[in-house]
Amino acid sequence: MKKIALCLAVLLLLCGCGRTEPEPAATPDPEPAPVQEENSISFLAMDTYMTVRAWGADDDQLGAVRDAVYELDELLSVTAETSEIARLNAGDTVTLSEQTRTLLEKALQLCEKTDGALDISLYPVVKAWGFTTSEYRIPHETEINELLQNVGFRRIGLSGSGAILPEGMEIDLGSIAKGYAGDLIASMLREDGVTSAILDLGGNIHTVGAKPDGSPWRVGVRDPQSDGYLGVLSVEDKAVVTSGGYIRYFVGEDGETYWHIIDPSTGYPAKNGLISVTIVGDEGAVCDGLSTSLFVMGLDKATDYWRQNGGFEAVFITDDGQVYVTAGLQDTYEPRGAACRVIGSKS
Ligand code: AMP
Ligand code: MG
Repeated sequence: MKKIALCLAVLLLLCGCGRTEPEPAATPDPEPAPVQEENSISFLAMDTYMTVRAWGADDDQLGAVRDAVYELDELLSVTAETSEIARLNAGDTVTLSEQTRTLLEKALQLCEKTDGALDISLYPVVKAWGFTTSEYRIPHETEINELLQNVGFRRIGLSGSGAILPEGMEIDLGSIAKGYAGDLIASMLREDGVTSAILDLGGNIHTVGAKPDGSPWRVGVRDPQSDGYLGVLSVEDKAVVTSGGYIRYFVGEDGETYWHIIDPSTGYPAKNGLISVTIVGDEGAVCDGLSTSLFVMGLDKATDYWRQNGGFEAVFITDDGQVYVTAGLQDTYEPRGAACRVIGSKS
């Protein structure tokens, strides 16, 4: 009899019938989240066609974003004579706006950290190659060596909000400015409550949150040899910035290809075995500066830099078509075609 009573108690418990608490009152279905409409704006700034697609942003908000980038461009442009950078290059002592000052400091920190692989004072050399005007030429070695005398970011003088350049020196923040513009746009959209947006600033991609359906954004890594992609990255809230030898280049009379990323130690286009570097990270300005400077370093030094500093991930494509991804991208980089090798945190 005791056995039967025990079995009955166990059975009641298993069926859930033994509970004494009252059934919870039925709750109404949660309100369905409002469907966010996509809105977008495209404009030309920083010599680049920019497109911002944001879900839930109105025309005024997107217009404000565009105007903020125009204002930034007016401060930084090397060709607009009245910009703060152009006035510095003309030898004026300039009281810098907060934005220019912030970006200049950020750029100088990266120049230092990359041991001069990034050097914002390389501008006279970049001009001599014609990369600023598209009137390409191969400068003579003596001309390059003379221009290199005026290259050296450590000589840039910053004091308080003022800045001055030694005579003959000129700077250009082009290697990092678009990344900074991406940070500016993303932060304005986030302040407006936007939780889903993707910005394409001439190939620099910035993402806010995830896609409207909650899945990660998918960003292609260009194949330097074709219009296709070598792989796809799944990202949320990240900047994805590429520097490539295939983006701006010319073929000289000698049949050689010369591209726009210059090695400050030689004054010649950086040919250290890489054809493309993509940096994935939280801050666009840093990603932009790193994509340029890690391209200059070549694979081994770039890998060492990643191991020592961290805080970002990278996809490297060598000039013979090998693809390398840093360990943090192992699960987010999907190869298309070419297989990739994973670079671990230890050599
Ligand atoms: P990015 O497309 O971001 O890699 O930037 C390349 C641009 O930065 C070039 O068009 C040049 O104006 C400039 N640049 C090229 N090489 C360097 C370098 N080593 N350091 C700083 N700026 C550079
Ligand atoms: Mg860059």
